[in-house]
Amino acid sequence: MILILKPNTDPESAEWAQLTRHLDSLGDITWTQHEIQGTEQRLTEIYLLGNTKALSTGTMQGLPCVERAVRVQTSYRILGRHGHEDRQNGFTYNGIRFDQDSLHVFAGLCAVDTKEHVEQMMQALQAHGQQTTRMGAYKPRTSPYSFQGHGANCLPYVFELAGRYDIKVIAMEVTHESHVEEIDAALDEAGRPTGVMLQIGTRNTQNFELLKAVGRQHTHPVLFKRGFGITLDESLNAAEYLASEGNPNVVFTLRGVKTSMGDPHRNLVDFAHVPVVKRLTRMPVCIDPSHSVGTRDVAPDGLTDVMHATAQGVVAGANMVLVDFHPVPSKALVDGPQALTIPELGWYLEDVAIAREAYLKRREAARRYASGRTDATNETASS
Ligand code: PEP
Ligand code: MN
Repeated sequence: MILILKPNTDPESAEWAQLTRHLDSLGDITWTQHEIQGTEQRLTEIYLLGNTKALSTGTMQGLPCVERAVRVQTSYRILGRHGHEDRQNGFTYNGIRFDQDSLHVFAGLCAVDTKEHVEQMMQALQAHGQQTTRMGAYKPRTSPYSFQGHGANCLPYVFELAGRYDIKVIAMEVTHESHVEEIDAALDEAGRPTGVMLQIGTRNTQNFELLKAVGRQHTHPVLFKRGFGITLDESLNAAEYLASEGNPNVVFTLRGVKTSMGDPHRNLVDFAHVPVVKRLTRMPVCIDPSHSVGTRDVAPDGLTDVMHATAQGVVAGANMVLVDFHPVPSKALVDGPQALTIPELGWYLEDVAIAREAYLKRREAARRYASGRTDATNETASS
């Protein structure tokens, strides 16, 4: 069961003390507290764990500070919607809002190779008004002999350049909890000129110990990739590990699934799941068209397959796009064949804006038709 408290509840108040005394007296039932910072108000939710069947929602709703008591399924208890469309979603990180309404493009290098390439990329992003990027320092590779990323060595110049080009958030994969410590140490050293969204890659979707470790830290939000060979439900349960350890600031990423049915693409594009994840959970949804499609191939209409896949996700309401770009793809050390080039950045962003406008119009039409239906129902009811 979840208790949603009245907005801006004061944890120093007498009512709060009364509530927590009551919760402490519930025997086997334990409780944890989660803060959700919305655009206008701070919401506190209390999660009751254990056998809550005997508790009545009516009684719990009558407790001091409590606005609403909600019964939840055991699956994705914290991140799920549980049929409550109006539950707050999203978070603000380093001044940027991430929720199920926003849209941010994280264009950048799959893997950091040289300082010059990082600078060229960030310069281009700033010129196009972008404040978010992707920069891989720790790369999980299929072969142990492939380039594994520069790791901690590249962090000082990546963070320094991010500060110089006003990049607010960098998506960066971590494959071990020690990487989080390295990132924090480098950010401290550089004077925290930027923010990092920690990425959990598809190969680590069910690395539960890594998820627990990343969930225990509350400094950085998490960009979580769906597993490429497991069900959506299994991936959503894995994302819940982050929240259950205390970090609910999670963006869920669709990046295609592994099957030969997707050939000649690298993976089968799964962006029809954008609305599904939004319906089942409160997570903002990211799409990764680069790792889904895996090539820079161009269709007869002149658009690359990566742009087509991006548009499909954005038109379905995606909240974030993670996409590979590289100043010289032929020199990229990882995933060069799928990287778009810097001269294509403006065109790419324009294409995203076209798809976004189409999505907003579709959403508006849905609202219009929904209110039309309500009016029609009311007319029938009153006639
Ligand atoms: C990546 O985004 O660099 C990456 C390795 O993606 P994935 O985990 O989806 O394969
Ligand atoms: Mn890659």
